Amino acid sequence: FRKTKDLADNLTTSNNPHLPRLFMNTNLAIVVPCYNEEEVLPETNRRLLGLMATMQETGLISENSGIYYVDDGSRDRTWELISNYNAKSSSVHGIRLSRNRGHQNALLAGVFNAPGDVVVSIDADLQDDINVIKEMVDGFNEGNEIIYGVRSSRKSDTFFKRFTAQLYYRILKLMGVDLVYNHADYRLMSRRVIDCLKEYNEVNLFLRGIIPQLGFRTATVFYERSERYAGESKYPLSKMLALAADGITSFSVIPLHMITWLGFFVSLGSLAMVVWILIGKFALNSTIPGWASSVLPIYFIGGIQLLSTGILGEYLSKAYMETKRRPRYFIEEII
Ligand code: UDP
Ligand code: MG
Repeated sequence: FRKTKDLADNLTTSNNPHLPRLFMNTNLAIVVPCYNEEEVLPETNRRLLGLMATMQETGLISENSGIYYVDDGSRDRTWELISNYNAKSSSVHGIRLSRNRGHQNALLAGVFNAPGDVVVSIDADLQDDINVIKEMVDGFNEGNEIIYGVRSSRKSDTFFKRFTAQLYYRILKLMGVDLVYNHADYRLMSRRVIDCLKEYNEVNLFLRGIIPQLGFRTATVFYERSERYAGESKYPLSKMLALAADGITSFSVIPLHMITWLGFFVSLGSLAMVVWILIGKFALNSTIPGWASSVLPIYFIGGIQLLSTGILGEYLSKAYMETKRRPRYFIEEII
């Protein structure tokens, strides 16, 4: 066993990406974004440490593997808890952002600052089955660079969440954006993949859309998603909608094309109306001064114009925010 481990040490740390990683002892970093998670954190930490210990015993991951909690500007005792865990275990680390920057940014802060040959990102609320991490690391050792955790069912989600999620995947598909179905941000990424990710400079990084575009050998592991262990969802409808809109406007210009087509068809329609009016006047000689025919188009065209300017505005605001190149987050403290 000892021999295998030494061999593994030499090979896993090798910079040669073409070498097969048949063995083990992978340096794993688990990144957990946390926003006001004092209620779940004790249980999450207990389970994650337990999992790491078993993976270390079997030599699957290395001794210097660790958990990296990112405190996304929590206002409860989250940071205090993280500091305690850090004091008790050398495997627990904390990254504290200067204020709340949202889940995606907290995730990036963790992924970009955690060392490790591989990084697994997972939510703090234990909705995702942590035991799948083993399979993910196995998948990495078999040569995969990205491994998606995918929910095999959404039984634990409310009807509303399931319905809106379905609708969202449909819309995105229509817009030409291919997302991994039923995959959130539970995934493994290799060091190489993270280095590639760093080259995306856009401020609003929609990871679920970008990562499938990177390429590399990819695998999927399935798990049952359970209910939040404790506490409330930190993703209210408003944040969900913002993320959804980001997903569309960051990846697709089809809404802009739609405006063009809409304009085209409405113009065509109004031309037809002119013909109809002319026929009415000269052929049928029955021009009844109609209320509907004059008022309805005003609303109709007005609505379309507002919609079109709105969509243009969405893209313009996106371009505007991107030109500022504002930093995504500031780190206040790392332990
Ligand atoms: N989260 C975060 N910053 C935020 C909102 C959420 O870091 O502004 C974290 C949160 O602590 C959790 C993960 O993102 O670990 C997912 O949030 P949540 O479970 O509340 O979302 P849901 O599962 O309800 O969509
Ligand atoms: Mg959750």
